[in-house]
Amino acid sequence: MIGLTILGATGTIGINTLDVISRHPDTYRVVALTANRDDARMASLCAEWQPAYAVMADSDSAERLRTSLKSKAPDTTVLAGEAALEQVAALPETDYVMAAIVGGAGLLPTLAAARAGKRVLLANKEALVMSGKLFMDAIHDHGAELLPIDSEHNAIFQCLPPDHQSRGLAASGVERILLTASGGPFRDTPLAELAEVSPDQACAHPNWVMGRKISVDSATMMNKGLEIIEACWLFNTTPAHIQVVLHPQSVIHSLVQYCDGTVLAELGQPDMRTPIAHALAWPERIGAGVESLDLFNVARLDFQPPDMTRFPCLHLAAEAMHAGGTATAVMNAANEIAVEAFLAGAIRFTDIPRVVEATLANATVQPATTLDNVLAADSQARDSARTYIREQAA
Ligand code: NAD
Ligand code: MG
Repeated sequence: MIGLTILGATGTIGINTLDVISRHPDTYRVVALTANRDDARMASLCAEWQPAYAVMADSDSAERLRTSLKSKAPDTTVLAGEAALEQVAALPETDYVMAAIVGGAGLLPTLAAARAGKRVLLANKEALVMSGKLFMDAIHDHGAELLPIDSEHNAIFQCLPPDHQSRGLAASGVERILLTASGGPFRDTPLAELAEVSPDQACAHPNWVMGRKISVDSATMMNKGLEIIEACWLFNTTPAHIQVVLHPQSVIHSLVQYCDGTVLAELGQPDMRTPIAHALAWPERIGAGVESLDLFNVARLDFQPPDMTRFPCLHLAAEAMHAGGTATAVMNAANEIAVEAFLAGAIRFTDIPRVVEATLANATVQPATTLDNVLAADSQARDSARTYIREQAA
């Protein structure tokens, strides 16, 4: 049996992961589940899965969970706090870690999984965007495996030869990566209306059901910006070798173009259980519970270049990657604060890129060679973004 820790078990990715493994009870067992504050949801997950450990990042929520598990899951040990998240990512009985915490909060536990030599199933793209080379080195130095869950990166991984990591993309004949994007809910909204859109409108993604933060990122296309950076680290390439392609149907999840004219694509339903099952079973295949793709039903596939005026976050992300060092951690932190403020009704949708741009302009970029540098850049950028928002409101 393969032991699994799910970081962010109560989220969209966490729940989809449990759905996939419920179809393979003889292969996978749940060792640990974690969440932030939603102890009611955790209690029902623990009752169903009876994990050895359940961790709540928030200690009051952990206390409530401990009480409700006395009868529902008496053998589950309930822990609280950030150190416990790292602890359950590195347990000896855990083989695979699903990294599905949203945002920078996932960095340390995901890194702990890498340092413990686990198979890391990476959904938490922010962790890689923040720490880049440090994270890739941790995977390499500790003999861990890294499998992308993000649907685009999972598609690219599937379209690359198995030895692309050791050979590099150029030696594998890869000319460029075509990273698809749906364009989100505001792809065709008149620009003048964008300042007035509500959080609920921003979270109503046309094709994918996701948590609120990544939904807003999809609407600003910062999600694609984060994904450009994610792809650079995962596949050891540069933004110059990545073309973003708007593809409203989300049927093609990304493509790889080779020097002989071949273009390989991965197609499927927009259902995260496909990349989750792929990464769990790789290099084998297992059922994911996903309906098969009916091409006659799909009928047509459209493509267009992204509109950089509509989506300034794309440009900001490529600039941050170009600046290097802690710039991507700064950008990620500012974006998290801006999205939180937008979801709370404190700023407008169109303020999100402004907050990110101003925070980047204020920051002094440091080399991202130590975790301390990355964490300091993250925390300073959060403060700076909050100050900018306060000053704008005043
Ligand atoms: P979500 O909001 O649905 O779930 C987030 C999970 O993280 C929850 O379990 C929550 O309890 C936990 N969490 C939040 N803050 C935390 C904190 N401070 N400490 C500890 N735990 C915390 O998000 P999601 O849609 O499942 O996305 C999770 C990650 O996967 C994100 O990084 C996202 O970008 C990535 N991702 C999601 C999708 C998708 O389709 N949902 C696709 C690709 C990548
Ligand atoms: Mg994606």
